[in-house]
Amino acid sequence: MQQLAERTGAVLRIDLQAVRYNYRLLRHRLGSAQCGAAVKADGYGLGAEPVAKVLYQEGCRHFFVAHLEEAIALRPALPIDAHLIVMHGSPVGCESEFITHGCMPVLNSLQQIEDWAALAAQRQQRLPAIVQVDTGMARMGLSSHEIQILQSNPALCAGIDVQYVMSHLACAEDQTNPMNRQQLDTFNALRALFPGSKASLANSAGIFLGSEFHFDLARPGAALYGVAPVAGQENPLRAVAHLQGRLIQTREIPAGTGVGYGSTWRSKETSRIATIAVGYADGWLRSLSNRGVAHIAGFAAPMVGNVSMDTITLDVSNIAPVYLQPGTFVDLISATNTVDDVAAKANTIGYEILTSLGTRYYREYTDIAQAT
Ligand SMILES: *Cc1c(COP(=O)(O)O)cnc(C)c1O
Repeated sequence: MQQLAERTGAVLRIDLQAVRYNYRLLRHRLGSAQCGAAVKADGYGLGAEPVAKVLYQEGCRHFFVAHLEEAIALRPALPIDAHLIVMHGSPVGCESEFITHGCMPVLNSLQQIEDWAALAAQRQQRLPAIVQVDTGMARMGLSSHEIQILQSNPALCAGIDVQYVMSHLACAEDQTNPMNRQQLDTFNALRALFPGSKASLANSAGIFLGSEFHFDLARPGAALYGVAPVAGQENPLRAVAHLQGRLIQTREIPAGTGVGYGSTWRSKETSRIATIAVGYADGWLRSLSNRGVAHIAGFAAPMVGNVSMDTITLDVSNIAPVYLQPGTFVDLISATNTVDDVAAKANTIGYEILTSLGTRYYREYTDIAQAT
């Protein structure tokens, strides 16, 4: 259902100019390495299509999604010289759809390599792919044992144009973690087994580990969307998502009144409570119950009581009533309360806050004024 600005309970503003800024900053960091973009999960919840379109304008040509379906949905939005790369590889039996829809698989197992090679043989055509090797995450990609098998049976890769060898870092946001160096060393050893192929290792945080981690192509996601790439350091990126919820009503309650499901918060004195039209069905995580904060005209208001499906409740006792008119918008994600701030309060990471953002919001995209 199309949301209307006047009727909506909440507005999610997505700043595409900030996406552009973040892409340029990352590209600058990368120097001569190319900067791709992870736009999986609908561009981390912010809209794969509008995000990918501005990134293409900024020069991005490698777009990473998780599922084949995501690539098929995004394909018409991007010119043909944009590579659409499916990180899960092909679902069994769907290999030919990659040709139909002009996208490229990441091959994560010997089985996926065999199936891709079989399609190449059938079509009598060399088919491009990325091969993923596991360097210590134990999640996706070939193990070193499987790579040995591949080395002793080069025919397994016959017909496959391995454009890149890639791997993924497990602990990159922690710059002091020795795992980063171990994975880098393993990656360098394994990629030497694919002498004709380029290499890709870094996600957002990996870009900030230094040029040794950059190789030919980086695959940032979170940083493009403004999430802090390095734990414990100032975030050089611009916020992309701004969320405001509508104030529905306020009420005065006497001391000792329970608020919300389970009465998990009780007023200690006479208090004023404001009810906001955003809840866990909108991705405002229930773990923010009694922990989150909102801002009204710049004043902080703590969330009290449990998050409901469609509402949250704020203690606004210290905010003047003039700011509390029904229909007012309160800031839930803002410059003073960033995605990372919200995530910390919810005991999670900015990625989960963004990808949880719901579908009931009125979404407003802003970008540089297009010249006419
Ligand atoms: C999601 C993902 C990325 C992007 O990671 P960020 O931390 O968001 O920059 C890169 N590579 C792989 C394999 C991924 O799954």
